[in-house]
Amino acid sequence: MSISVKTRKILWGKSANRCAIPNCRRELVMDEIETDDPSIVGEECHIIAKKDDGPRGNPNFPEEQRDLYANLILMCNIHHKVIDDQEQFYSVAKLKEIKRDHEEWVNNSLNIDEIKMREELIYSDYIDEWVRRVDLDTWDIWTSWLLGSGQPQLNKQKLNELEELKNWIFTRIMPNTYIELENSFENFRRVLQDLINTFTHHSIERNGELYTEKFYKLDRWDPELNSKLHKEYMFHVDLIMDLTTELTRAANLICDQIRRYILSDFRLEEGILVITSGPYMDFSLRTHKVRYAGDQRTGIPYKDLSTFKKERIDRDFSFGAGSDVGEAIELGIEY
Ligand SMILES: [Zn+2]
Ligand SMILES: [Zn+2]
Repeated sequence: MSISVKTRKILWGKSANRCAIPNCRRELVMDEIETDDPSIVGEECHIIAKKDDGPRGNPNFPEEQRDLYANLILMCNIHHKVIDDQEQFYSVAKLKEIKRDHEEWVNNSLNIDEIKMREELIYSDYIDEWVRRVDLDTWDIWTSWLLGSGQPQLNKQKLNELEELKNWIFTRIMPNTYIELENSFENFRRVLQDLINTFTHHSIERNGELYTEKFYKLDRWDPELNSKLHKEYMFHVDLIMDLTTELTRAANLICDQIRRYILSDFRLEEGILVITSGPYMDFSLRTHKVRYAGDQRTGIPYKDLSTFKKERIDRDFSFGAGSDVGEAIELGIEY
């Protein structure tokens, strides 16, 4: 577990982005990109260390409480070093006192936009929940089942989770403040809905796994029909893979908007979400880095399924093309 978006927003908000040490109180930034002065990059310091043997460490302090707001204090990197080097003087009680005094000072002497703070906490709550539900940390792994070996498959439980996620996004009460951020969630929901519908349209269940049904396999000898259905199957598989790719773009767009409006360093370390396709004939796997580009980035880039079928070829990457088999062949897809 790491520090949640909501906790970070509360910490930075209540500290007014300042170092809590009284004779410092410098204004801090979240990441190096915003500054060429490394000493003003804010650090979210643990009062009781995250690790048992860290500064003020306490093996009896529950692990799930270590990353919570109550155990964190915001400092510049100079004072972070000071409090960790002098842990006898900067005891747990001392740091809690410093934190309390600092937040009191902020309340009494600075103007904090309470409404903005409240709204950003609502967004932060949604963001944490989305990250958890969508399993962002294993994105590349769970999506690879939809992109693998010419027969998309998905765990039944995963499908249920995605279904719930879709409904959860739909029923959120958004503050109506950061419209582009909200649009990016709506965009994600639309893609997810069409991905689920398209995938389950031709899927069969076996031992808790859903497989794309090979509907071209006939119980009678009819090579012509078989060949026609086989093309349709390949078109269908390409469409599932393109929707999975689009969902990745949509998730990357959400991350971009979170960085823009809520947390400037959100997942900077982890970087862009990627997907892996294959194995191909030569057993190779391919990694794709996909994002919306240019004017696709404003509003809601994913309109609906029929528009997407036509537009997918103009994205940064696509497996298939066109609205149907005939169009796909005209556009150069080989089956
Ligand atoms: Zn520390
Ligand atoms: Zn400081």
